Amino acid sequence: MKLRNWLTLGGFTLGSIGVASAINSFLPHPFVTDQLFERASESASLAKEDWPDIDITFLRCGSVAVPECIAVRGSFSLTARTIAYSAVLIKHPRGTFLYDSGLCADTPLFLMDQSFLFSNTLGRFNMERPLCQHLEHLHMEPKDLDFVLLSHLHWDHVSGIPDLPGVLLQVNQVEYDFATQGLLEKNQGLVRRLLSNNPMQLLDFAGPAYEGFRCSHDVFGDGSIILVPLPGHTPGQMGMFINRAHGPRVFLVGDAAWLSDNYTVPTTMHPVLWSMVTSDDATARQTLIDLHHFARQHPEVAVIGMHDARMQEAFMTAEQKRLNAQIV
Ligand SMILES: [Zn+2]
Repeated sequence: MKLRNWLTLGGFTLGSIGVASAINSFLPHPFVTDQLFERASESASLAKEDWPDIDITFLRCGSVAVPECIAVRGSFSLTARTIAYSAVLIKHPRGTFLYDSGLCADTPLFLMDQSFLFSNTLGRFNMERPLCQHLEHLHMEPKDLDFVLLSHLHWDHVSGIPDLPGVLLQVNQVEYDFATQGLLEKNQGLVRRLLSNNPMQLLDFAGPAYEGFRCSHDVFGDGSIILVPLPGHTPGQMGMFINRAHGPRVFLVGDAAWLSDNYTVPTTMHPVLWSMVTSDDATARQTLIDLHHFARQHPEVAVIGMHDARMQEAFMTAEQKRLNAQIV
């Protein structure tokens, strides 16, 4: 065969492989989900009588729309799904605090020196209402916050901090140690700059297994706010249970699942995006499986990802209804 024919055949073969892997990347990729979820036999008790009244408000700072097939592997839908950039305000009798920080007013300035690729993929969003404006609207000042719990140290979860000068940040020790090995300085030191020299307290997870998760940290020591590790997206990502006297229990899961579909199926996002944002593939999948089992066993608990606009809106609507009913 002539050289030109060989080249044509080679090009055709490579092209076919490329098309096949592109198609494959959108196909479902089933997980084995039959491992025992209750692998931790001891578990902190749920002493419901101790749970206080706790107010929960999602503060959505920005959003971006992505096709569902990008956020949910195995979906063939091009329907736009909204990815939110939110903080959560929690008013507990013993402290007022945020879980994650949303976006500060100057976030676009912090992102100005980023690469074209970053600005047009992970760094693309529409600003809706920066964190400082949310606080103003609620007649609050940064000093009214006792601390901010950061689910993990990706830029989009620490971007509200410049609007909170001097407020104490609480971070999993494992997460901070990981961040010092490169994440703080990545993208022209973006995360280090966003952390803004705020004071920081590092948390250990020396508490017992909780709801099937291997260890825990009880924030107020009363069983109402319990942090659990959700590793894989980053090594020290932490989820937070909110156990309260009135209203449903809530489990905030950081970025362990972008959308509820990720843990209900369970499935990752599109593999290209998944590999861009996931530090340990196998661990992150195991965390999704753990969430899948927890959500199936506890349909009464609102399991909400920090980018899941639909779940956050549904929660806020139900919460408003509940509070209105209490007033009447
Ligand atoms: Zn995120």
